[in-house]
Order: sequence, then structure tokens, then C-alpha cells
Amino acid sequence: MLHILIVDDNPSDRLLIIRELEREFSGFQVAEILDASAFAEALATEIFDMAIIDYQLRWSNGLEVLRAVKSRFPDCPVIMFTNTGNEEIAVEAMKAGLDDYIIKSPRHYVRLAVAVQGVLKRVAAQKQVVRLENRLQSLLDRLNVGVFSCTVNGRLLESNQAFLRLLELENLQQAQLVDLRDLFRTSLDLDTAQTKEISLPKADGLLKWVLLTQYFNTTSEGETIIDGLLEDITSLKQAEIALRQLNETLEMRVSSRTAELEDVNAQLEAFAYSVSHDLRAPLRAIESFAQILLTDYASNLDATGLDFLQRIEGSAALMNTLIENLLDYSRLSRSNLPIEPVDLSLIVAEANTQLGEEIRSKKAVIAFEPLPHVLAHSATLLRVVVNLLSNALKFVAPGVEPRIRIWAQEVEEPPRRRDSARLVGETETTRTELDTMTKWIHLRIEDNGIGIAQEYHQRIFGVFERLHGVEVYPGTGIGLAIARKGVERMGGRIGVESALGQGSRFRIEFRKYEP
Ligand code: ADP
Repeated sequence: MLHILIVDDNPSDRLLIIRELEREFSGFQVAEILDASAFAEALATEIFDMAIIDYQLRWSNGLEVLRAVKSRFPDCPVIMFTNTGNEEIAVEAMKAGLDDYIIKSPRHYVRLAVAVQGVLKRVAAQKQVVRLENRLQSLLDRLNVGVFSCTVNGRLLESNQAFLRLLELENLQQAQLVDLRDLFRTSLDLDTAQTKEISLPKADGLLKWVLLTQYFNTTSEGETIIDGLLEDITSLKQAEIALRQLNETLEMRVSSRTAELEDVNAQLEAFAYSVSHDLRAPLRAIESFAQILLTDYASNLDATGLDFLQRIEGSAALMNTLIENLLDYSRLSRSNLPIEPVDLSLIVAEANTQLGEEIRSKKAVIAFEPLPHVLAHSATLLRVVVNLLSNALKFVAPGVEPRIRIWAQEVEEPPRRRDSARLVGETETTRTELDTMTKWIHLRIEDNGIGIAQEYHQRIFGVFERLHGVEVYPGTGIGLAIARKGVERMGGRIGVESALGQGSRFRIEFRKYEP
């Protein structure tokens, strides 16, 4: 309940005051003071929301009473209600903290309650402001982010504790001696980027990383100031640096491993090449002696002996083909394959010519539309297409006439950096230039053959990988390995889409040639 101190010697005036207050307030309590000792006791023992005082008192005067109230309760509003005061007294009283001054005359009585109401509201608003300010300050001080404001000349105006802590400064006074422009190595002007990462040397010699964010504001006086935030990002920065270093070592390790692998691979391929090469001489001897036996000594052998001899000759011939194919495969890794624009239509036409005999004997039909130009090595590309086409002609169910369709599709793709093989003679520059090209041609060769089960889609591209016996479908199992190596050496890719019994669709991808 509102507790009001009334200091007035005149009983009818006190009554008047109470009556006027009753008009405005429903419930309140008053302490009526008649002499010095009652006043002293009231100040000592009670708390008031408001004081209404007269100026002329038998035992004191309004100014002294005002000062006494304010010194005891600085926030307690005081209204002087008097008919003995004058302008000088009013001014003096205002300086001492008086909240309102009302002349005690019938004309002004009604103003009293209104003034009390107004003063109370103002005091409540002030308290609210103070409370909010305190709350804001305690939040700012508890915050781990430095909050500050400074002039555009870098002089600190105010800051929270975190700001001082971050900069290892003792207090605001010490901080105000620092030119923040020097400290942040930034001009703090309107052109400067709003957010900046800064490294600051710490007392222990290590670096502290902070993120500075600036906003420009104008004060009510029209002065431009900077409001700023300062965050400690040292651990973030350290993690970033550690990650970068880790990445670098990782990349170094990957490239040295790759180099080692390439080296081992090259050695293996060289070994395979020389073994295959060396196998040819004894094989030729076996073939020649078998031939001599067949021509000159056939009459000395019975039917079984002859059969064995023919089998030796057949196996030797197969082995010869195997060795030839292996050598072809090895050569593909070693030889230089200069890349140039190649007309896919011409390549497919040439492959058709080479396979003409087979196409006719199998009554095969090969359909193809005009095809675009790609970047490839012409002879290798022809070899790949011939291998794929001859497989499409070969792997059909008995009695089925091969139906083959060839078409190309343009595909836009982001640069392939990691998975495209380096071309022979290709330098980093040409590689980068080529990598920025995003148009690829996917050439597809689709057949109506026996199809390939999903689990073999990768395996069939390996050396000697075959899914059928030689008696059913003859072959050496190296055609697709050659196709893959060739395509990859030309910077492309190869793959298959197929399901058992549903035909196959082989796909080779090349960079499109754009004149
Ligand atoms: P080869 O044709 O000498 O057997 P390849 O390396 O060309 O060897 O092919 C490997 C294997 O992949 C073949 O033995 C066959 O099982 C399977 N294959 C290849 N092309 C096709 C195709 N068009 N349809 C069905 N299977 C195929």
C-alpha cells in the first residue's frame, strides 16, 4: 500500500491533503508529522513512497526537511505544498532534488493529487530504467563476448568485463589509454569490412585470435561511434590450422603412396611384358615341332596319337593368342597415346568393316545414328569399339540374331579431377584446361545378348576374367581389360548396364571435342 509522509503543522491543511489524495487513490497510509522528534523517528523507522511537505514549520523549514528525506531515501519523491514559499525557495528546493512544487491555494488544490500521480509514475519509470540497465550490465558482464563502444578515433567509451579480459586490460581507465585502431590494426572507419579476424600477441608470448565485428551508430548528439563485439576464436583457429596441416600431410602421404603404387604397377607390368615376351620363343618351338610331327611323322602315329598331337597344336595356338593379347595389353600402358579430335561415326563405320565377315555370318543388324567428335586416340578408340562390338556379336543365345544399337549422348558434368586418368604427355596446364571442360559424350553399345549378372559388372573388365567356358563362347578374357585400359588412358571411363538374359549396354565416356 502507498505510504505517504505528510509534514505540515496545520491540521486543516493535512486534512485537505488527505482529502485531495483520496480523490485519486483508493488505498494509502499516511504518517502525519507535527514536530522534530516525530520526524526523526519516522525517518528512522519507516519507509515512504512519497513525501508532501510544507515550507513553513514551527520546528524547521521545508528545505531542511527535504534534504533530510532525500538523504535518507534518495529515491523517495518529495512534493512541496506551501503558501509561504517564493521563487527562490522553489529553485533552491529543486536543486536539492524536489520533484514538484505546488502553491497551497484553493485554485491549486486539485493539482496536488495529479502531481502525486505524475511523480509516482516518473519514479516507477526511472526504477524500471535502472533495473533494465542493471540487468543488461550484468548480462553483458557474464557474457563471454566482449562488447564495447568507441569513437571512430579508436578511443574506448565503454565495455563489458569480457572485453577487458580478452585484451588482458585491468580496467576501463587503462583501456581508454589504448588506441583501438592500433590494437586491431584496422582503421575502424566506415569502409572497413564489418567483420575481421585479428591475431593479438598475449602476455605469455602466444597468439590469441579474435573476431571483431563493428557496427556504426550515431549518438543522440549526432556523433558517429562504433559499437563492437569481440569474440575469442583461438581454439577455433587452432583447430582450423591443425586441420589444414593434417590435410596437407594427408595429401602428401596420398601422393607418395600413389607414386609408390604407380611404381610397383609399372614394375609389374614390365615384368608381365617380359615374361609374356620370353614365353613366345619356347611356345614357337612347341608349335614348330608339333607341326613337323604332323607333317612328317603322321603315318607313324595311330588315331589317338594324332588326336593328342592336334590338341597340343590347338593349345599352343590358344596360348599364342593369349600371349599376343597380354602383350597388347602391356603395350597399351607403355605407349604414348596422343589425344586428338576423332569422329566417332568414322570409328564405328571402320569397326563395322573389320567385323564385316562376322556380322554377315551371324545375320546381325547394327544400327547407329550420326555420332559426334570426341577427344581420343583414334587407333585405341577403334580397338575398344571393335572389342565391344565383337562381344555384342558373340555373346548371344544360340539361334538369336544379334541386334545392336549404337548412339551417343551429351552430358554436362562438373570437372573430374581425381578419377580421370592422366593422359600421356599431358602437363598440369593442359590437364587443368581440359578439366574445366564440362561436356562429355557417352557412347552406348546395346545388344540383345545373354546379359551379365550385376555382381560381375566390375569383374569382367579384369584381365582373364571370363564368365563362360571357351567351348561355349571362345575368347581369351582380355578384350574388356584392353578396352578399359585404353579408355582410361584416353582420360575417359567405361561401364556396363546389364541384367542376366536381358542384353547389355556398354558405355564409354569421352570429353567432347568442341572446335
Ligand atoms: P572375351 O570376349 O575374350 O571372353 P572379354 O574381356 O571381352 O573377354 O569379356 C569378358 C567376359 O565378359 C566375357 O567372357 C563374357 O563373359 C562377358 N561379356 C563381355 N561382353 C559381353 C556381352 N556383350 N554380353 C554378355 N557378356 C559379355
